[in-house]
Amino acid sequence: MEHLRVPGPTPCPTDVLQSMTKQMINHRGPEFGQILNGITAKLKQSFQTKNDLFLLTGSGTGGLEAAIVNTLSPGDKVLSASIGVFGERFATIAEKFGAEVVPLRSEWGTAADVDAVRQALKTEPKIKAVLTTHNETSTGVTNDLEAISSAVKEFDKLLLVDAISSLGSINLPVDDWNVDIAITGSQKGWMVPPGLAMVSVSQEAWQAHANATMPRFYWDFGKAKSYLEKGETPWTPAISVVFALSVALDMILKEGLANVFARHARVAQAARDGIKSLGLSLFAEESHASNTVTAIAASDGLDTKKMLKILREEHQVILAGGQQKLDGKIFRIGHLGWVTEDDIEIVISALKKVLPQAGFRAR
Ligand SMILES: *Cc1c(COP(=O)(O)O)cnc(C)c1O
Repeated sequence: MEHLRVPGPTPCPTDVLQSMTKQMINHRGPEFGQILNGITAKLKQSFQTKNDLFLLTGSGTGGLEAAIVNTLSPGDKVLSASIGVFGERFATIAEKFGAEVVPLRSEWGTAADVDAVRQALKTEPKIKAVLTTHNETSTGVTNDLEAISSAVKEFDKLLLVDAISSLGSINLPVDDWNVDIAITGSQKGWMVPPGLAMVSVSQEAWQAHANATMPRFYWDFGKAKSYLEKGETPWTPAISVVFALSVALDMILKEGLANVFARHARVAQAARDGIKSLGLSLFAEESHASNTVTAIAASDGLDTKKMLKILREEHQVILAGGQQKLDGKIFRIGHLGWVTEDDIEIVISALKKVLPQAGFRAR
């Protein structure tokens, strides 16, 4: 058996996979409508929100693009509080559609500086929205979104949040934290194959939608809303992935959201403890270390590429490397979704054998 421990796609439970062998159904018929309405209600519970919530067929990045084009106009100023690769991606999408991005970057491995966010909003009163990442998968850092949100709301700005690798795994009460648009993707903590993005949309986001002039068609929330009223999606959805999501949401809510979050916290602690016991150190500042992905600094002669190859070929353990400027500098363990402490033990004991073979000499 392969041990897939990358931060998405994540392994899927057997019942989730089996639901996908079901024959196709009419996506304009009553059976699909029932499933979609059920999923929408369960996702609202998982997002802890009463806001509108849409299922979009696309990957998480499609959801990020949807958040931008539904709320902004070319020339709008947006603050990008970015702490890694995915923060940069969110900002790039805004820029490509003509927004004027004011960058506020934190050193990779650290969280966003909330006072700097407040200061930037004070300095640039024309900023319309703040883009940020709840859990930065590229560095293994979770931002203090509650604090960021209160800074953003002091100035009454829209808050658009990439929560792709946190929602459903790390507590994110969308309504309590006033998140205007929260975005996630099926292949992360939801234990479902890739193919769906899920987004929540607040009243303030709808007001922005009414005046936003960036080009939008496929991702138009207005169409998503009017079709959802009939139990449909505007375009043909990834029906098999919808079946899978329905089963996975039942599993998550049966376990209980609080229990799911607590399990992720325990598993992440086991990963961090295990890594340190091997003589390695975390890449992320520990106070903000993520409960869904652990990033580890390559040190003391470790060749991460060689390590990843031996892990894969000889131990069937699949971990992730670093992205962009972190390539070769870190490696990452994904521990979100269908994961327990036993899965982490398998990774740590494989690492124990492989590290010396990949040049690591513990001090
Ligand atoms: C995975 C991920 C994305 C990209 O999602 P895709 O489904 O690959 O488009 C964006 N942001 C974060 C934080 C992620 O973890």
